Amino acid sequence: MKTSIIGYPRIGNLRELKFASEQYFRGEITAAELEQTAKAIRLYNLNLQKNSGLDFIPSNDFSFYDGVLDTAFLLNAVPERYTALGLSALDTYFAAARGYQGEKGDVKALAMKKWYNTNYHYMVPEISDAAELKLVGTKPFDLFREALDQGVQTKPVVLGAYTFLKLARYTGTKTAADFADAIAAAYSELLCRFGELGAAWVQLDEPSLVKDMTEAETALFVSIYEKILANKHGVQVLVQTYFGDVRDCYNQLCTLDFDGIGLDFAEGKQSLALVRANGFPKDKTLFAGVVNGKNIWHNNYAHTLSIVQELQKYAAQTVLNTSCSLLHVPCTLANETKLSADCKQHFAFAKEKLTELAELKAIFQSAQPTDTSAYRQNAALHSAPRAGVNADVRAKVAALTDRDFLRLPAFSEREKIQKARFALPLLPTTTIGSFPQTADVKAARTALRKGELSAADYEQLIERKIAECVALQEEIGLDVLVHGEFERNDMVEYFGECLDGYLFTEKAWVQSYGTRCVKPPIIWGDIARAKPMTVRWSSYAQSLTDKPMKGMLTGPVTILNWSFPREDISLKESAFQIALAIREEVLDLEANGIRIIQVDEAALREKLPLRKSDWRTDYLDWAIPAFRFVHSGVRPETQIHTHMCYSEFADIITDIDNMDADVITFEASRSDLTILDVLKENHFRTEVGPGVYDIHSPRIPSKEEIKAALAQMLARIPAAKLWVNPDCGLKTRGNAETVPSLKNLVAAAKEVRNENS
Ligand code: GLN
Ligand code: ZN
Repeated sequence: MKTSIIGYPRIGNLRELKFASEQYFRGEITAAELEQTAKAIRLYNLNLQKNSGLDFIPSNDFSFYDGVLDTAFLLNAVPERYTALGLSALDTYFAAARGYQGEKGDVKALAMKKWYNTNYHYMVPEISDAAELKLVGTKPFDLFREALDQGVQTKPVVLGAYTFLKLARYTGTKTAADFADAIAAAYSELLCRFGELGAAWVQLDEPSLVKDMTEAETALFVSIYEKILANKHGVQVLVQTYFGDVRDCYNQLCTLDFDGIGLDFAEGKQSLALVRANGFPKDKTLFAGVVNGKNIWHNNYAHTLSIVQELQKYAAQTVLNTSCSLLHVPCTLANETKLSADCKQHFAFAKEKLTELAELKAIFQSAQPTDTSAYRQNAALHSAPRAGVNADVRAKVAALTDRDFLRLPAFSEREKIQKARFALPLLPTTTIGSFPQTADVKAARTALRKGELSAADYEQLIERKIAECVALQEEIGLDVLVHGEFERNDMVEYFGECLDGYLFTEKAWVQSYGTRCVKPPIIWGDIARAKPMTVRWSSYAQSLTDKPMKGMLTGPVTILNWSFPREDISLKESAFQIALAIREEVLDLEANGIRIIQVDEAALREKLPLRKSDWRTDYLDWAIPAFRFVHSGVRPETQIHTHMCYSEFADIITDIDNMDADVITFEASRSDLTILDVLKENHFRTEVGPGVYDIHSPRIPSKEEIKAALAQMLARIPAAKLWVNPDCGLKTRGNAETVPSLKNLVAAAKEVRNENS
């Protein structure tokens, strides 16, 4: 029995790569110094994996920014606007990753997109009609040789040809199929080079195979690989899939001349069933993804044992593998000083997953697997009653009935009641919640954490910021005010800290994109509202003004999606527990005189399953009810808002309407307002505030520009349903651009209002 991983985190245990890269961007270190840090990380990872006893150690999983971007450079798919700058190879690469503004020119970065259903983002390759795909880079070979110099024969990892073509954006009239021959030739050459270098195996990552595939797509995949595999140059080829099962191409995978097939048994709902129904080719090795690469919980050995033992009935050779690259989990538990030993024993980050693989291997090699001490310890861990059970919460969630997800009276009735209550002008103006988080607020929070500032002094500062923010909004003339969210470091972490059931890490960073990392909190036990979370700040803010003050909360689906979820209860159960806690806060706000409450679902779309056929059953059927439960208990005259950070919800538009909020604000300015037609066609019922300007850029939108955006909106949305607001929170902006931007927004709304009444 051998072991393998698909890839290892490359940021370094303490985010060394991030810090070195940022120093390089600021001109503080040289390219050679950056490369030194990179090499140190690679060699550290290599030794760690070697010493853990791992059999298949990946190479080329390292990247300075993103692996898809690396592949674009490998295959000569780099738009000319970057190469034409005349920069060094490394700087050309960073120009494509981050944009470039300097002596040599001014170019924007390539687009960035979410990597399947993860929180990682990749750079979207751009392929023009003139593009000539061919093997031009050397990074995979260089890194293979680097490891070889250390005496380690690695398994090089390269993004597969099919997935690369599927992820690219085509700027001309050609499509993926037009590049099939060229890319097959490039990969053939790649195998040839690895053959010369003496590589035994090459892993080609093909996660796009777990998505719904049309016949044309399967045919494209087959035609590319028939060519690539026609001559393997003595190298064994592993096709590695992850993030789901390969139900649309399992037979093709088995028939093509691959030497290894990597399947995901963690997220692949049908992976086991596919093997059971179709068997597994005797001449191939099955790389069985049984150690979850995406989550941080300790593997359940009994469960893994039973899966692998069954797989061994079908496959002649089975390798124990992770379900996806370990890129999606933090590096190591070793740097967590505040987690209790009791909690820690349940977790396995990347380094600890190497230990799991080694233990599993030993268990499989033993004559009596279930008698080994590792197995028994693991069984004890998984069978012990879990800490953090809250019987009250469980009972409440279990008792939910249809009525709990239904807010009465119906929307149209509430709309009338609320119009009368608030008597807001036509096209009411508001913001999304946060105001600029200035240096004084961040410094105070750091001082509070270090014990250099008392809680009382900190809270006084927050109150002062709120008072200033309210006064500012009154001066600007906004209609519905916010308190500014100064008390929050982050829209999930803040709530997590106020809830029972959450754990926080110190160094457990995961790469989100490039040098940006996130530290998702861990849902450890049943979630319950330990104390009021925002009532104090919202009621204080409301006490300063006669205008309605929006209460500001994060919704259950977003809190869940931006955390490491539990595996011992379902996502649905967790979502309902969080919803219960947020619902209590909503009712508390209402009881304390807050008349409008916004529940942000910024990340609702993020975890939409990769296959459309799973959207409802696996996700929307509980995600939408979780949101509805949050607000179904409020009075008819209390107005519920929600906010989403994207506007690509055309395909789930009825579900969004079914959240049954009274008002929804969302990003629209960057996507050319295309969503407006969709709203119109679908008779969208909820009142809407499509963002009238882009807050992600420091520029100040003119009044005329905002009026023009409003005119476009009014052409498709009834004036009585339209709100006027920026497209997201203002916390990353400065006051210098925020104040004039909001003044222009209010002035534009007033003029358009007069023209329409
Ligand atoms: N209310 C939050 C804010 O204004 C929403 C942030 C978000 O959409 N990501 O910052
Ligand atoms: Zn947003």
